[in-house]
Formats: sequence, C-alpha cells, structure tokens
Amino acid sequence: MWTQSVFEKIVRISQPGASFATYTCAGWVRRGLEQAGFQVSKSPGFGRKREMLQGHLPGSPPVRAKVTKVIVIGGGVAGCAVASALAMRGVSVTLIESAPALAAAASGNPRGILHIRLSAGMDSLQRFLLASYGHALALLDEKLPIDGIARAECGELQLAFSAQEAKRIDRLAALDWPAHVLRRVDAAEASELTGIELAHGGLWFPAGGWLVPPQMCEALAASPAIVRRTGYRAESLAAVESGWRVEGKDERQQAWSDEAQVVVVCTGYQVKSFAPLSHLPLTPVRGQITMLPATPHSENLRTIVSANGYLAPSDGELHVLGATHDFNDEAVDLRASDHAENLSKLADISPTLAKSMNIDSLDVEQLNGRASVRASVPGAMPLVGELLPGLYTSLGHGTRGLITAGLSGELIAAIACGQLLPLPLAVVNTLAPVPGLVRQVGD
Ligand SMILES: Cc1cc2nc3c(=O)[nH]c(=O)nc-3n(C[C@H](O)[C@H](O)[C@H](O)COP(=O)(O)OP(=O)(O)OC[C@H]3O[C@@H](n4cnc5c(N)ncnc54)[C@H](O)[C@@H]3O)c2cc1C
Repeated sequence: MWTQSVFEKIVRISQPGASFATYTCAGWVRRGLEQAGFQVSKSPGFGRKREMLQGHLPGSPPVRAKVTKVIVIGGGVAGCAVASALAMRGVSVTLIESAPALAAAASGNPRGILHIRLSAGMDSLQRFLLASYGHALALLDEKLPIDGIARAECGELQLAFSAQEAKRIDRLAALDWPAHVLRRVDAAEASELTGIELAHGGLWFPAGGWLVPPQMCEALAASPAIVRRTGYRAESLAAVESGWRVEGKDERQQAWSDEAQVVVVCTGYQVKSFAPLSHLPLTPVRGQITMLPATPHSENLRTIVSANGYLAPSDGELHVLGATHDFNDEAVDLRASDHAENLSKLADISPTLAKSMNIDSLDVEQLNGRASVRASVPGAMPLVGELLPGLYTSLGHGTRGLITAGLSGELIAAIACGQLLPLPLAVVNTLAPVPGLVRQVGD
C-alpha cells in the first residue's frame, strides 16, 4: 500500500501544517515520508505496538479572510442556489443577470422535472447525483413547498421501454434501495400508479415530481442579503488585490463595475468572454419542450413518465413533453421539427396515450413550446468549486440542473466560508474546475 508516489500524493493534497500518525514504524516508510516533505518523529505506540510514527508538514494552514461579500454572475437555478446558500451564512450577495429578469435562459421553462437517471456503478457522479437528489428535495421543501401549482411530488416512473433500459433497470433494482428512493414495479402496478395503461414496468421514484423553475429561482433569491442586478451583463473578470473585479454594461449600455473577495460564475455555457474560464470544456446543447393540449384520456396521467423523453401531468390544459438535444446549437427559435421529434417520443411512452392525444393529426406548426440552451460537460459531472483563489464556478449542469444546482451552491458556500464540506472529498475533487481542465469522458 505504501509507495513513494503515495507519500508524494499525500503531500500534494495536504495543506501546510497537516499532521499524520501511523502505527507503521518501518525505516523506509519514515524515509519516504521525510523525502516527500513531512517532518517525522517516533513516539510511544498503543497496545502491542511499542512505537509509532507521527509528523507534520512545515508551516501553518492558510488563514482565509472571512468572506462578507460575493458577486454571483448568472440568475438561473445555479446562480440563485449559490446566492441562497451564501445568504444563509450571512454573506451579502450581489446577483448579476444580463436579462431583465431571473430565470431567462435554461432555467426558464414553465415546468421541469425532478428526476435522476442512475446507473448501477457507484462512481463519483452517481454519488453526487444521489446526494443532490436528497438535498434538492429537502431544500425545496423549505423554499418551494409542494402546493400543486409551483411544485408537485407526484412521483416519476422510468419506463423499461427498450431492451437497454430494461437492462439498466434490472441492474439498479438488484441493489438494495430504500423504497422512498426507488423500487421496481411491473406493468400492472406502473399503470395503476401513473393512471394510464402501460405495456412495461420500470422504476418508481415516489419523491420525483415537477416544479416551475422560474419560481424556484425566485424562491431561492428571495433574501434581504441578496441584491439583484437584472439587466446587467458581466463582460470581464480580473484579479485585484481585494479579490475580483467584474466589469460590464447595463441595459442602457452604461458601463458598470463591482469588486468582491469572491466571484461565482454561473452563466451556463456562456463563459468565453471571461479569460480565466475560457478553457472550460462547456458545450451548448439546445433543447425544446412541447406544450401538448390535454385530452380527456391524457387527463388521467397523475405522474411523470419518462422513456426517451418525458411527459408531465397536465395543468388542466397542457402537458409538458420534452425534450430535444442538439449539440453545438445556441439558437432559441421554436421549431416545428423539434415538436415532431418530441411527439415521436410519446409513442415510446404509450402508443395508446399517443393515439388518444391525436398526435398524428396535430399541426406541429401551431404547437407552443420553449427552446433554450443547456451547458454540457464531458462526463456529465458539473464544474463546481474553486477555479482560482476567490473565483468559483457552478457550471455544466446539463440536463438536471434542478437537482444538482442546490447541493452545488451549498458546496461553494461551504468552501468559501471555510466550513465542513457537504460531500466526500473524492466527489468534491471530481467536481472541481481546475486550470487547464480537459475531461476525456463522453457525456
Ligand atoms: C429543454 C430543456 C428541458 C430541461 N428539462 C429539465 C428538467 O426537466 N429537469 C432538470 O433538472 N433540468 C432540466 N433542464 C436542464 C436545466 O434547465 C439546466 O440544467 C439549468 O437550468 C441550468 O441552470 P444554470 O443556472 O446553470 O443556467 P441558466 O438557467 O442558463 O442560467 C444562466 C444565466 O446566466 C445569465 N448570463 C449568461 N451570461 C451572462 C453574463 N455575461 N452576465 C450576466 N448574466 C449572464 C443568463 O442570462 C442566464 O439567466 C432542461 C433544459 C432544457 C434546455
């Protein structure tokens, strides 16, 4: 287990002043630790061990100045969640948003769903997603309680609609899940839970549901400690002695600037104008949802059902059906071809339902919907943490920002305020944006 490269890695991830103790007294371990940089001494051991090694790195841990003011750039769910987590810690936050209102971009859909798509392996991404799901539900219970208007906990069924999905679901269901997170259901139970006839079973997430993302943003940003600057575009970022300086233009093209010890960038895929962030591997992915007129039969749908896409229960008139994915497309025009693509996904959910909603005779040119742009990162792990001293990011939330924004905000606030981290270090390190970051894995 002990090798020179392990000793060196320990030193790399330790702060000045870090201490260690080990019952191993072998001379080569002592020499290896010293060579890596530790000051090592022998002391009396415990029990059957006569001696042990202990030591520390020279110096003392850096003392961070108490953070009192933070500038958050971007008023979507990621920015509002960071602002909320900081405000809860007594920090004054200036929330900068280029649009005239919060939730103007990817976070502006009339409905979004709270769902996580898990795989059977417990890597850092899965651990982060599970932790984010639990955190989001608790955060929303406080900030956006279930009222059937802004948020509903109707449950979500992930349908085993293809051989590949059935395999993923089989693997997941074989693990020991608490029933309040997920459980496997057969086609009969799936039909009973959702209210519509389904040919397949799947995974049932009882706490899944939908919410109105702009209302989530409003609820998170509703704090006297948060000053909103809507209509303010940030154009550049520069390190200054006291922290970071942000410069930009307001709606009337008037120049403005502001400084703070800490700046958090939450601008979705739009980071190219900020020199320290321009290397980050963010890809724009256009997405469109379709507002589908409800029919007497479709009104029976009580829950979210997802297959290739997802369908939410109607609000009395319309269902939200989503969503398309177009990589490297930043346009937000509404497209009939995207509506047609969404409609074709309905047939994967239930051909009977699709027929009862007359999808073959609908005029896709007349359908309503909304298009916006996600920020995707290779590997799907968002870029959350400190990039340079005092400069943080919460970016790359991809297809599930409603779940991941909350815990990401909490993590940034905890790091900036020098508090205990809400996630294991291995997960924190995988989330961290680092200078020169290149992620190899495909999304
Ligand atoms: C069609 C579609 C459907 C989706 N459905 C779901 C779903 O059901 N569930 C789910 O969890 N997720 C869903 N997502 C993903 C989710 O919407 C995103 O992950 C989330 O909204 C990302 O939030 P954000 O705050 O990172 O980005 P955004 O919401 O895009 O916010 C970034 C903000 O920064 C502002 N900004 C940018 N540049 C500047 C600048 N220079 N100065 C000032 N302000 C700036 C923008 O105006 C914007 O308001 C969906 C996305 C799409 C496109």
